[in-house]
Amino acid sequence: MPTKFRAYAARTSKAPLEAFEYEPAPLGDHDIELAITHCGICHSDVHLVDNDWGISSYPLVPGHEVVGRVAARGKHVTNLAVDDIVGVGWTRSTCRHCAECLRGNESLCLTNQATCVGNFGGFADRMRLPGDWAFKIPANLDPASVAPMLCGGVALYGGFRAAELHPSMRVGVIGLGGLGHMGVKFARAMGCEVTVFSQSPDKKADALAMGAHYFVAPGCATAPLNHFDIIASTVSVDLNWGDYVNMLRPTGKLLMLAAAGKPLNVSAMPLIIGRKTVMGSCTGGRWVINEMLEFAARHSIGAQVERFSFTDANKALDWVRQGKPRYRAVLQA
Ligand SMILES: [Zn+2]
Ligand SMILES: [Zn+2]
Repeated sequence: MPTKFRAYAARTSKAPLEAFEYEPAPLGDHDIELAITHCGICHSDVHLVDNDWGISSYPLVPGHEVVGRVAARGKHVTNLAVDDIVGVGWTRSTCRHCAECLRGNESLCLTNQATCVGNFGGFADRMRLPGDWAFKIPANLDPASVAPMLCGGVALYGGFRAAELHPSMRVGVIGLGGLGHMGVKFARAMGCEVTVFSQSPDKKADALAMGAHYFVAPGCATAPLNHFDIIASTVSVDLNWGDYVNMLRPTGKLLMLAAAGKPLNVSAMPLIIGRKTVMGSCTGGRWVINEMLEFAARHSIGAQVERFSFTDANKALDWVRQGKPRYRAVLQA
């Protein structure tokens, strides 16, 4: 077993990734060691490398959509066995005893540890983390298609659960990219009527093939008013949010899953009169991630991915930085 882990790290803000070796912390009794096979690239990885949020420390090893094989486990790890294929998402550990942890909202734990903020992430050959934050991947799912679900996918799945989505609902998804396309697949499989709002007319065929019933250009005169139970926004641009609030039926929810630059411009009166909600969500607790994986396995749902080798990590990261992936990019060993 190698003593050092081989990774790709940015040495300073916005720097290209370089080969980087580090000595891992000793394998604790509750830890596992992963031999990484896949790592999805989320736009958050670009934000971290570029220190857009002011929380990055260098050297920075990105990667928080990690799939790998359990190569070793501490003596108190009982939920996983050596050679299990498991996934790791944005969170690698939480306190396990605060109110949010005990309520199953562990991703909201105020002391949660992120996989690649202050820790070395999944752009690497190996990783160590607490075994109770790794999730078994169902055997019928392609690990490359599962990787982006561990952050991007659970944003949608966890958001829909937080918004109390029901099978009879009418769901709108704004944007058909890395996040949005997973939302379409989940909402369709959950039994909902699904409408995609997209500024890319060339994505209409994809949207319908992924399960959308309708495809609407933003600002389109035919956009239905008082229609949707949930509209999930997956785009990082400023839209006229009041238009979307007006498309919600009474008690409907506008679910923000991506941040635009400006404060939301929404009048209070339509919220008051229609008892409507503007809410946000990101990732989910461990039960949500496990439930998503089970649901995805049952309905054969995976992200649509473009594959890069780990040695092309810079090329892949730039591809994501430039917004080029049609859906999602994944590094594959
Ligand atoms: Zn992410
Ligand atoms: Zn906690």
